[in-house]
Amino acid sequence: MSRYWSPIVSKLRPYVAGEQLRIANMVKLNTNENPYGPSPKALEAIREAADDRLRLYPDPTATELRETIAARFGLTAEEVFVGNGSDEVLAHAFQALLKHERPLLYPDVTYAFYSTYSLLYGVEAIEVPVDDRFRIRLADYDRPCGAIIIPNPNAPTGIGLPLADIEALVAAHLDAVVVIDEAYVDFGGESAIPLISKYPNLLVIQTLSKSRSFAGLRVGFALGQRELIEALVRVKDSFNSYPLDRLAQLAATAAIRDEAWFETSRRKIIANRQSLVGELEALDFEVLPSQANFVFARHQSQSGAALLAALRERNILVRHFAKPRISDFLRISIGTDEECARLVSALKEIL
Ligand code: PMP
Repeated sequence: MSRYWSPIVSKLRPYVAGEQLRIANMVKLNTNENPYGPSPKALEAIREAADDRLRLYPDPTATELRETIAARFGLTAEEVFVGNGSDEVLAHAFQALLKHERPLLYPDVTYAFYSTYSLLYGVEAIEVPVDDRFRIRLADYDRPCGAIIIPNPNAPTGIGLPLADIEALVAAHLDAVVVIDEAYVDFGGESAIPLISKYPNLLVIQTLSKSRSFAGLRVGFALGQRELIEALVRVKDSFNSYPLDRLAQLAATAAIRDEAWFETSRRKIIANRQSLVGELEALDFEVLPSQANFVFARHQSQSGAALLAALRERNILVRHFAKPRISDFLRISIGTDEECARLVSALKEIL
């Protein structure tokens, strides 16, 4: 607390970053990165562009990237907004679309940035409890609101909602903006993108950090009808007129075009998730049904905190949340076959 700080800043907590890779041979399953790495074609695009052209400002409209994303999803470039990771896209959405006289609704067990951004941008928020099996109950969103944000699949539970449920939610709230955060959708979820042409109140946000394994590049995007995208562009233009640097624009364009790499990578992760779930269940874990590149699991007798510490001693990083309702659980990102095998053998040793 400082006498120079604004009242809002004193309420913000410093971000506690997930532990980073410091020790060689560490198995890092704590921040939902994709172990298979980005498209080699995208890496080549970075190498080719890393020259004197970096003295020039990047394209302020990121047109080639937006056109590439639009073509991939059957939309027009005017229906695409890009930013530095979906975190930045979300921040712009909070400023441009979610600040109303009526409250914003989101689940009580969900991505922590929604509450942080609500505080930072002065958005009145109501956290809607998930049910006793950690599922989002749509009937609970049947109340007056200015906006709704739901990750599909949800994080950290990994539980997805079917497209029909998303459509019912969007259709029931035509006077509110509904944001579907699809950071993890490519690992078995159902995307709401096909609904965009029908619903002017729907904004879908995706990222290259997970299924395209580019968390270090920082590229995310929002898709929606022009009216919503225009609002995001106005906020972005007032904040920073260059949405993405030159290398990020080129690499992201190449990554979106490399459909074969994307397919192989996400399929491997889905397969590894299926076998990891079986192994964890055999070790007496309850594992929530996941459609993401992580699982959320609790052991029948060991606490989440104890397991976190015991795994850490064996150079394996997983994520534990202090929030009382979920403090028994561990969130484990899906690694390579080898990394999953190391996790399972460490757990066998511990339990
Ligand atoms: N939404 C959700 C639900 C997430 O879990 C994350 C990743 N931590 C993000 C958005 C942000 O991802 P990025 O900024 O890397 O695109």
